[in-house]
Amino acid sequence: MSSRAQKDYFEPEETSPRRYSPELPASSEMKLVSESASLGTESGCSAPVSDANNKKTLLKRKAGLELTAIDRHSPLFAYVRPGDRLVSINDEPVRDTIDFHFKMAEPEVDLLFELADGEQTLFEFEDVTVEELGLTLKQSGIRTCKNECIFCFVMQQPKGMRRSLYIMDEDYRYSFTHGNFVTLSNTTDADIARIIEQRLSPMYISVHATNDTLRRCMLKNELLAPILPRLKELIAGGIVIHAQVVLCPGINDGPELERTISELAALNPGIETLALAPVGLTKYRDNLPDISIYSQTLANDFINRIEKLQKGFLKDFGTRFVWPADEFYTIAKRRFPALKEYEDIAQFENGIGMCRLFAATFNRKKQFFKRSFNKLPNSIRAKKPRLVGFTGESAIDWLQEEIVPQVREMGIDLSFNSVKNEFWGGTVTISGLLSGADLLQAVLKDSVQGDIVLLPPNCLNNDDLFIDNLTLEEFCKKAKRTVVVGSYDFVETLKEALSLEVKSGSCTLNNSNTTRGNRSVALAEAGLAL
Ligand code: SF4
Repeated sequence: MSSRAQKDYFEPEETSPRRYSPELPASSEMKLVSESASLGTESGCSAPVSDANNKKTLLKRKAGLELTAIDRHSPLFAYVRPGDRLVSINDEPVRDTIDFHFKMAEPEVDLLFELADGEQTLFEFEDVTVEELGLTLKQSGIRTCKNECIFCFVMQQPKGMRRSLYIMDEDYRYSFTHGNFVTLSNTTDADIARIIEQRLSPMYISVHATNDTLRRCMLKNELLAPILPRLKELIAGGIVIHAQVVLCPGINDGPELERTISELAALNPGIETLALAPVGLTKYRDNLPDISIYSQTLANDFINRIEKLQKGFLKDFGTRFVWPADEFYTIAKRRFPALKEYEDIAQFENGIGMCRLFAATFNRKKQFFKRSFNKLPNSIRAKKPRLVGFTGESAIDWLQEEIVPQVREMGIDLSFNSVKNEFWGGTVTISGLLSGADLLQAVLKDSVQGDIVLLPPNCLNNDDLFIDNLTLEEFCKKAKRTVVVGSYDFVETLKEALSLEVKSGSCTLNNSNTTRGNRSVALAEAGLAL
């Protein structure tokens, strides 16, 4: 299995002659201004360290952003190479890639590079775009939080996992670029000014409670600035906010939640949406505060109260504004609201409306798929493999009710199994936190029938690693069956698994190994080539 990381750039070999691309975009004009230009100021931090002779020296972080790749068509291709640093644009330091994009919007830009040998070179451009420059720059480090939230998932993990899983990131820049939630615990006045100046909108902010005393207590951070003035400052600066509350029963729900919702709703439309997610607790909570979880009854009452509030907001503001996470509905064992009730599904990544959209997409596409599938000759359809899906305990009932019967009606042999989460503990029931080991154990059970294993779409990271570091490749070898990693479009997952190409109302068989991304799905290896 090949790595997912694709090189989408041309990286010159160290020994290759450097060349200037004649394909300079017509709209841009670049002038090499001077060699050895000096940089007036140097950004970055410095820290005293001891050298080999035990003398104090200063270790300076290099200014600017490191160039990691350059497109062969870039007008700078002949002049800079990976390892050089972009130090400033128009005499202002470049702190991160957001700065780079922001400053590149100017019609005239002067780019100062520091080359690997320490020499500095200035390039002038007129009307050049980021795309035309073709530079890949290394994003600067990530900021971490100053809290110890009583529900923090990072602190509830066992030792020995991927290093990245222990990073307590809290970086407003990633909130803008990746939709990561931040509490603003480390956001300074200068950061707020920058967010507003550079229009870093929308921002995703974890509020948890608008009662600052309660918030400081839950986040275990006495130094937290009051949250509402911060939110108002951002909103006054034109920033749109998506907020979330992680709910701990008996702590920030009940009257405190009513207060939080009403104080945040008063800031709508500046605060566009509010997501309410139940706390997730693992078995690794030694020395952490006692927190309870939502029972079916509690979750039911909770949904009733929130849906009532939604109706009021819809009448007053034209939006439901606040949504319980899908997990509340699975805990309460009740049907998800209709798709239209999720409006723009702005917090999809946060588990709001994900299940309903999954079912709606399936319903929309299934008729076409069914017609096409039914056109296959019986002799071929009879040979179709048995599909067996795996998911977390919270989604199993819903999948069994809403998806599985419809797929079986088409004549496709599909079953689903729930996987108990031994890795984190039984209270963690969502599919995205299933470990490779737990999934594998479930797949290898004698009672499990099926030729092709369907995995949930969210159980692997971008490097095809499960949360316990098991690789997809190792998993496939041990599972001894064809494995398909599903997508949020279940018809696509079925087509992938059945190795079908559905085109213009007809269904043809695809005899080649199918792939999803780079995941090889070798029907032939499984002896099921059709
Ligand atoms: S903000 Fe809270 S939940 Fe997030 S990483 Fe920090 S301590 Fe953990």
